[in-house]
Amino acid sequence: MEQVWKEYQEKNKDRFLKEMMELLRIPSVSAKSEHKEDMRRCAEAVRQSILEAGADRAEVMETAGHPVVFGEKIIDPSKPTVLVYGHYDVQPPEPLDLWHSGPFEPVIKEGKVYARGSADDKGQFYMHVKALETLAKTNTLQTNIKFLIEGEEEVGSPNLEKFVTDNKELLKSDVILISDSAMLSMENPSLDVRVRGMSYIEVEVKGPNRDLHSGIYGGAVGNPITILCKMLASCHDENNHITIPGFYDDVVEATEEEREIIARTPYDEDEYKRDLGVKELWGENGFSTNERTGIRPTLEINGICGGYTGEGAKTVLPSKATAKISARLVPNQSSKKITQLLLEHFRKIAPPSATVKAFEHHGGEPYVTPIDSKGYKAAAKAVEKTFGKEPIPVSGGGSIPICSILEKELGIKIVFMGFGLDSDNLHSPNEKFNIENFHKGIETIPYFHKFFAEM
Ligand SMILES: [Zn+2]
Repeated sequence: MEQVWKEYQEKNKDRFLKEMMELLRIPSVSAKSEHKEDMRRCAEAVRQSILEAGADRAEVMETAGHPVVFGEKIIDPSKPTVLVYGHYDVQPPEPLDLWHSGPFEPVIKEGKVYARGSADDKGQFYMHVKALETLAKTNTLQTNIKFLIEGEEEVGSPNLEKFVTDNKELLKSDVILISDSAMLSMENPSLDVRVRGMSYIEVEVKGPNRDLHSGIYGGAVGNPITILCKMLASCHDENNHITIPGFYDDVVEATEEEREIIARTPYDEDEYKRDLGVKELWGENGFSTNERTGIRPTLEINGICGGYTGEGAKTVLPSKATAKISARLVPNQSSKKITQLLLEHFRKIAPPSATVKAFEHHGGEPYVTPIDSKGYKAAAKAVEKTFGKEPIPVSGGGSIPICSILEKELGIKIVFMGFGLDSDNLHSPNEKFNIENFHKGIETIPYFHKFFAEM
């Protein structure tokens, strides 16, 4: 069987790449209404590609926002079904002047395809379309395959939960497979086993009813920036633990086994520091860097605003200051609960000399894939087969809020099989996807289906 896959893929390699690049030409920016038609055009192109790959059916399905593409190939309802999730929308390409070539004019340079969406996520979900084609055209499919490719991931998937709830029967499967993340490197293949949850709030501190002369009033009236900074600085103690009461209450400590796996993950601290241009690292005492970014919750100030920031000096006591604050969460912290704790905390520690308001932005729950699940084992075996090396389970620090929703609604586990690299410039100018990774993904995915069916 493997020989026929190899032959088929070798013969069609260039076409696979060319088709993927065609998809990258469509500016499917979900955040901007001016791209509404492009979104639809992209959904239609995805539908077409799934059909041509050999699916029985593929449809563009409506939501209150951008449409979802659903497709399926059912070989035998009694066989296991794999649901592939991905997204055809992309981040806005700005700032345009930092791109070396047009964000929607894909170019190949040094074995990489440069374009918005190449790695996140068009290039990656397209590997699954071509894996389906390989399996269908060589008559070697052992699983049923379904596709759920949405168009609103980059804007927080506001309509996907309803779509999934409304279409539970249609989406019924045994495992969800997602390629929307990175691996450590081609030499050190890895599979993500965790994504963190998120709480996001904004705090506003109001002092006097107008900006004041800092000489006439300074020293007598509370300065909103000073007050805000004091509150923010008090959120970590001398050990860099988070001081919000109740913040750690629901944290499930990682097991010794998990910590051992993290300790074995290749990591070069000097290189890490050099890359970031910092002399020392910072973080919660008692935990390593990979633990701090993977299995521990964090609190970050994302932005702070207030007072005079123009050229030169202006002696002012500002009337207002604001900060955006996010927390990354781990099991079993609840995004709702932590958001509530954060809001209450800032309202409570507000001094009487200012008015403090706090309100919430978006959130999402953490997610963990057990490494003893059938899906994870099949993915690990597939990666080992094509990379010649057992993948390392990695605790990713980012968040994919839709994961917990998919598991809750469909009652099945998610397996992350990302073939991108951290250096792919996701959401940044000059996003790229290595062509070798693209083909390696197409080579690996059929083995996942084979091993999953056999387990
Ligand atoms: Zn993505």
